[in-house]
Amino acid sequence: MSSLSCAEFQACDAKVPSKATFYCVQCNSLQCILCEKQIHGNLDNQQHERLNLDQIDDEYCSIDKQHQAVFYCPTCASSFCYACYVNQHQHSDGREHKPQKYRGEQLLTTEKNK
Ligand SMILES: [Zn+2]
Ligand SMILES: [Zn+2]
Ligand SMILES: [Zn+2]
Ligand SMILES: [Zn+2]
Repeated sequence: MSSLSCAEFQACDAKVPSKATFYCVQCNSLQCILCEKQIHGNLDNQQHERLNLDQIDDEYCSIDKQHQAVFYCPTCASSFCYACYVNQHQHSDGREHKPQKYRGEQLLTTEKNK
């Protein structure tokens, strides 16, 4: 997959696409390191869940197995690459779909220890 570009242009130049390093669930956009810092330096935005766009080892997109996955949706129990997540992921069924980085990582509990 070719690399994704920042879609914010808050701290970077729109004419020179910067490599997107994060996807923010609440902003619903791709962000480079600089924009991610700038946007989430704001107190209101610090709680945003940002997912690093590193490809997940040994996980492939459930839409097209040639795509390397970057997200996992626990609601669908499927992995997605970014393009398929945006274009093909069905999230209009009334359930909450919140992508996360790893299959099985438990985000439902807020337990910190163990
Ligand atoms: Zn955000
Ligand atoms: Zn940027
Ligand atoms: Zn889903
Ligand atoms: Zn895909």
